[in-house]
Order: sequence, then C-alpha cells, then structure tokens
Amino acid sequence: MDIIDLRSDTVSWPTPEMREAMANAVVGDDVYGEDPTVNELQAAAAAMLGKEAALFVTSGTMGNLTAVMTHCQRGDEIILGREAHIFLYEAGGSAALAGVQASTIPVEADGTLNLESIRKAIRPGGNPHFPHTRLVCLENTQGSRAGMPISAEYTAQVGELAHEHGLKLHIDGARIFNAATALGVDVKALVAPADSISFCLSKGLCAPAGSLLVGSREFIDRAVYTRKILGGGMRQVGVLAAAGLVALRKMTKRLGEDHANACRLAEGLATIPHIEIDPTAVHTNMILFSINDDTPIAPDELVQRLREDHNIVIGGYSNGRDKIRFVTHYWITPERVDTVLEAMRELLA
Ligand SMILES: *Cc1c(COP(=O)(O)O)cnc(C)c1O
Repeated sequence: MDIIDLRSDTVSWPTPEMREAMANAVVGDDVYGEDPTVNELQAAAAAMLGKEAALFVTSGTMGNLTAVMTHCQRGDEIILGREAHIFLYEAGGSAALAGVQASTIPVEADGTLNLESIRKAIRPGGNPHFPHTRLVCLENTQGSRAGMPISAEYTAQVGELAHEHGLKLHIDGARIFNAATALGVDVKALVAPADSISFCLSKGLCAPAGSLLVGSREFIDRAVYTRKILGGGMRQVGVLAAAGLVALRKMTKRLGEDHANACRLAEGLATIPHIEIDPTAVHTNMILFSINDDTPIAPDELVQRLREDHNIVIGGYSNGRDKIRFVTHYWITPERVDTVLEAMRELLA
C-alpha cells in the first residue's frame, strides 16, 4: 500500500468505508429492477444532478456509448472535439456498435469547442446527400487540456445552439464533480443544459467500478434497453453500488483536496531543474509537464528509477502523449506529494 501511483485517478483504491458498505450491501436482481442499493444510487445521482432518472453502467465508456446509441440511429452524425475521449479512447465504439460517424472539430486551449465551428458542422436537413446530425458531445473536465473545467455559461450556449437545431447535448462528465469543485458551482448548473450526462464513480471518487448515465425518465427508460444490448445488465450489483453511494455522497465533497495537492505538486515541480511546467495551468487534479533535452536522465529511465527505487509509478511519455501527466487522487496525500518531489529532485539533479 505504500505505492504512490500518479498515472491516473482510475488507479485509486476503494476507501475502507466503501469496503465496509460493500460487505454489508442489501442486494437483489438489478435486471428485474430489484436491487435496492442500485435503486438508491440511481435516485441519489438523478437528484444530485437535477435530472429525472439515472442508470448504473459498468464504465464511463459504456455510459457514453449507451448515450450515443440511445440518442442516435445508425448512419447519424455526432459533433465532438477532435481530442474527445469518446473519439480517441473508446476503441471506436460509436462507429463499431452505434453505427454513427464522428464530425470532429478542434478543442480550444480553454477546453471548449468554438460555437461557430459547431454551427458550421451541423448538416442541413432535407438533402439526401447528408447524414442527420443528431448529437453534440462536450467533455467536462476536458482531459486533453489537463482537466480544464468547462463553465455553466458556455455549456448553456452549446445547449441553446444544439436545441435550436433539434439536436441533443450529451456531456461526457467523467470528472464533472472535479469541474463543479474547481468552478465553485453546484453540479446541477453544469449539466442543466444537457439531455444526458455520464460520470465516473471509479476515478477521483474512488469507487472500484461503475459510472452513471443521467437524463430524463423517457431517455433512461430507453437506455435500459441499450445497456442490455451491450451486455451491461448486471445482477446483484448493489455490492458495487454501495461503494458508489459513498463515492457520490462523501467523495464528491473532498475533491478540492486533490486540486490543492495538484497545485502543490506543480509548484514543487516548477522549482526542479529540467522540468518545464506552467503551474497556473493546473485547474483540477491533473498536471502536464515535460522534461527538457539536456536532462541528466532519459525519461524512460526516470520512470524506471522512480518505480524501482522509490515505489512511485508514473506514465512517462506513454500513449503517444508529448507531455508527462500526473494525476492526484484520494491516496495522494500532501506527504506523498513531498515524497514525489524529493525523488524527482534527486533524479534530475
Ligand atoms: C475515463 C474517461 C472515460 C471512460 O471511463 P471508463 O470508466 O474508463 O470507461 C470517458 N471520458 C473521459 C473524459 C474519461 O476521462
């Protein structure tokens, strides 16, 4: 347990309170709608986000795919960022399983999609050359922009634009509670313009697995069928939902600590030779930085030394990224931040 893992917040272990809640969970067959703990989680999530209903799904990927499949027909087009998680990191599921094609537009430095670019990407109706544009997807926080939170005002503008053209708005809110915390707003305000939202219990909120898809009663009733098609109808899954309830009720309230630790980490890294980082670019729990060329230790070796000599796990320049990413979470305490800084300073001196 003394491993310090900064690769992602997905690596966060469940808390002792979650393990106890899981052991004691009251369960039933959720495909019959009879798991009281799942029902409680879904009702709590819908209430917290200010929507009518919610659906427990296996992962953020399933939440997004279920949303896309429920909103769209095969052959439809969705508009989303070129660096959207749905486009880059979900194994092409929207194409492979939903049969929709992606119309991608650039993600701006602040994590938004330019409104005019969205408008231009919407296909005119009544011309059989064109697919039907059905859906706009936003991501909040925006992963490719170091977890940049997207404001309620901007989201409302996108919602208005989408609805004006008869489109739906889906928010991939894997880290929507990080966004709400960073912006100091109620999460309801961030998702009010959206027709559907998915968010992860399994990232900074520490649950071992699970995501929620949230929307109108009518939408969620249809999404239940889609989830079943995707093999996501689980049985006594209240065991997981019990951890999800702790995630939702407790862990959403403490994300500010992770953001403060990310700032502490970024400010410390900025004082270490050979590290190039802008600490003012840290808004939530993610840090991006690079190591300059005249470093005394190659990046790959740095990754190896940290793991072997210091029990610190980092991703390095992995997954084709041109920056190193550190992500803080519940298990990255201020003391552990200092341990990381000491090790980095030693290796880069
Ligand atoms: C992690 C993530 C997902 C997918 O979640 P999984 O539970 O890993 O499938 C979707 N969108 C964003 C922005 C994410 O960061």
